[in-house]
Amino acid sequence: MKLSKLASEIAESPTLALNEEARILRERGEAVIHLGIGEPKNKTPISAILSSAAKLTSGEVKYTPADGTLSLKKAVIRYTEENYDRLVAPENVIITNGAKQSLFNILYSLINPQDEVIILAPYWVSYPEIIKMCYGKPVVVTPEDGTFTPRFEDIERAVTGYTRAIIVNSPNNPSGVVYPPELISKLVDFCEKKGIYLVCDDIYHKLVFDRIVAHPAYEFTKKEIEDSHIIVVNGVAKVYGMTGFRVGWVVGPRELVRVMTNVTAQTTSGVSPVSQAAAEGALNGLQTVVEAIRLQIENNRAVLLQEMKTFHGARLIKPEGTFYALPDLRAFNGNSVELAKFILKKALVVTVPGKEFGIEGHIRLSISGTVKDVTEGIARIKWALDPSSPNEIYIGEKKMIRDWL
Ligand code: PMP
Repeated sequence: MKLSKLASEIAESPTLALNEEARILRERGEAVIHLGIGEPKNKTPISAILSSAAKLTSGEVKYTPADGTLSLKKAVIRYTEENYDRLVAPENVIITNGAKQSLFNILYSLINPQDEVIILAPYWVSYPEIIKMCYGKPVVVTPEDGTFTPRFEDIERAVTGYTRAIIVNSPNNPSGVVYPPELISKLVDFCEKKGIYLVCDDIYHKLVFDRIVAHPAYEFTKKEIEDSHIIVVNGVAKVYGMTGFRVGWVVGPRELVRVMTNVTAQTTSGVSPVSQAAAEGALNGLQTVVEAIRLQIENNRAVLLQEMKTFHGARLIKPEGTFYALPDLRAFNGNSVELAKFILKKALVVTVPGKEFGIEGHIRLSISGTVKDVTEGIARIKWALDPSSPNEIYIGEKKMIRDWL
């Protein structure tokens, strides 16, 4: 079959592929632990259920404006004022099918073929693929010092005449690191001077620990939103645990929002009004739901850090936010795809190879599940890899003996 060269070259989503593998194993009755997918375990916030149910029972489920309903935009405007200290107009906001569509439409609206977009390793898996789908060129900047915090000088050096945008994701998926305010501040200055767009993927901005603050880029500019080069992406997926509703949004200059609206109108049309009502309910409802998710994950992180202390050979940079950890397992195998396969085969634990995030020799663990998932999942990985861990373990009902180390 003759298919488009570009489309055929787009990689399969590794997390979705791993989910499928885990589902098949589970169906076979295997005691799989899923540390692969990133979604909180909470039930949908009640305010979101009620407002989406009200929309549904009204029977008025029709097309929506391509840029989103005005009432959800108003909720986003309030959210932006409360969390970013910026008063924006409805014309500065577009609602999308998840933050994923926000990112796609931003890049589709900004870049011409061959334009370059800088991404910072370790980066979220979809960034390079989205850039390529827009005929752009991903340029990866990797910290050389073994940390997960890029150096400003390295980013500056990667900029060419073709650079159109830099994507910053802090708190970061997959490392959990929060970039220091000095870095964000330098990037804002630099982008404004050079006319490069700073795309801030803030999808995890409230999921931070130890009172660390993810400083928003807007803090470092006095420019009005229309003149600023900052574009902010957000959504209800992570902070409210509403991954299935598919609602994200962008705050940015009107001209960008106008072009993105046309792109949306000619592709997906506006987001389902039932989902938009749900997002509105979440944004306008009690915000204690966010704190409950944050606390549950902070607790899981404490369990993770405790378990990792006895994982000899693994090195972990303490996550400061999100629900991910990215241990360095190069002492066992430098090939993260082989590592993840081995861990799934021997220990029945789903992880994601670091290679997918542009960082070999690491694996990403998601700690968004239960305490039991985290404790047992890490115990199993230790058992599979670390010869100093006990060589017997129960996986489900089965007693397993390690005979390969
Ligand atoms: N950005 C990052 C960094 C993410 O981790 C994710 C979800 N994994 C998204 C964007 C996409 O979020 P959504 O589900 O709202 O499309």
